[in-house]
Amino acid sequence: MECEICGSQEAGYLILVEGAKMNVCTDCSSSGKLLRAPVPPKGRDDAPQREREEIEVVEGYGKLISDARRKLGLPIEVLAERINEKMSFLERIEHEKTLPDEKIAHKLQKELGIKLLQGVVNTSGGTTSQAKGGMTLGDILEIEKREKRKKE
Ligand SMILES: [Zn+2]
Repeated sequence: MECEICGSQEAGYLILVEGAKMNVCTDCSSSGKLLRAPVPPKGRDDAPQREREEIEVVEGYGKLISDARRKLGLPIEVLAERINEKMSFLERIEHEKTLPDEKIAHKLQKELGIKLLQGVVNTSGGTTSQAKGGMTLGDILEIEKREKRKKE
């Protein structure tokens, strides 16, 4: 079916324009109230959006990595070698010019014993913004434990 507005493209959208339903293309779909969007191609993204878990790299990851690395006395080139990445790439990550992907972040977590990734569950309930940049209960308990140990 051709677009009823411009006639030049495949009409995948059904929109309402001044009370009339029209089959239009992507470009023209914003000309009215959207009634129906094209069904996305099968097998591309089956998981329902609201249940999908996104993995996010924590804020200040660059400093986290470089601090942990220095604490371990690990030269950047050695760490780069251990995680099988170029030193220049790791430098960019430490300067937060590049965001490490999940795979690299996992490797860094393992090598440095730090937490770089946090799961963000996209629920419709809106429990998402919890603990972003803040502390979780687990973190607080961990700190309390550490404080106790120090005193003993
Ligand atoms: Zn059109």
